[in-house]
Amino acid sequence: MVASSSLSNSNNQAAARAAAERARAAAAERARVANAANTQRANARAADRNSVPGYSGKSSFEASPNSSMAAARAADRQSMLGYTSGTLRKGAEGDSVKALQERLTASGFDTGGADGKFGPRTERALKNYQRSQGLSADGVAGRKTYDSFNGVKTPGTKTDGVTSVNADKSVKGPVNTQLPDSGDGFTTYGPRRMQYGTEQTVKNMQEIAARYKAATGKTLEIGDLSAKGGVKTDRHKTHTNGANVDLRPPSTNGGPSNWKNAGYDRDATRTLIQEIKRTNPNAKILFNDPVLIKEGLTSRAGGHDNHLHVSFK
Ligand SMILES: [Zn+2]
Repeated sequence: MVASSSLSNSNNQAAARAAAERARAAAAERARVANAANTQRANARAADRNSVPGYSGKSSFEASPNSSMAAARAADRQSMLGYTSGTLRKGAEGDSVKALQERLTASGFDTGGADGKFGPRTERALKNYQRSQGLSADGVAGRKTYDSFNGVKTPGTKTDGVTSVNADKSVKGPVNTQLPDSGDGFTTYGPRRMQYGTEQTVKNMQEIAARYKAATGKTLEIGDLSAKGGVKTDRHKTHTNGANVDLRPPSTNGGPSNWKNAGYDRDATRTLIQEIKRTNPNAKILFNDPVLIKEGLTSRAGGHDNHLHVSFK
């Protein structure tokens, strides 16, 4: 009995040791898999960060390898923009507002300087940025806005749809579609016989006008496109391919439009150009406002003080 019991004990101990060894091995394997996953996530985060122009901060994920993706992103938002938690809205002040203003300006949305005070111009710039990203344009910078700055895509946004749909569509084709004389966000000026374009050009202008109206509350004035069939006229050297469009620059007082006039609305003009480029990034725009030229949004050309010339590509 004693011997048998002792043998049984010894067998049990051996079994227990084997079980403990298996558990250790399993734990080691789990740790190895977890580390590999952590590395993969860290690489994904690094790629995300690198996709943000000019951003080269150290990975906050590496600093805390056991944290979740959400925590890593939160840390990124903080390290990048002074974002701590919650939201920034009109009335806020401080370094995080300044960082937000700098970021908006770098993205092409003018806040009227980075003074660290969240005023109406910052709110307007933020709303326009949010709209351009397909986010809800509430003028409040929160998690989704900062994720968007960080290059984290919000799935199913309007931006994704619009960009991918239009990017593939050629503006080439027969010049036989007439722009309606008015529509959502636009009216026309000049002779109706000059308002023919390719089907895609006319569609582009209607969509751009609707977005511009939503962003600014203003109505876009559209002038010459092409004559039907793209025939040459004495009105233009170009404008024969159905993909050129002339636009009046927005004004704040309804007066004659020219960038040299007091009533010229540069902010609205900038928004208009951003709406054009958002879905048609290769469009070439001629307009002589020296500020917009300096910002890389337009190019100088003779005779283009009082209208923007857009060539869709
Ligand atoms: Zn033109």
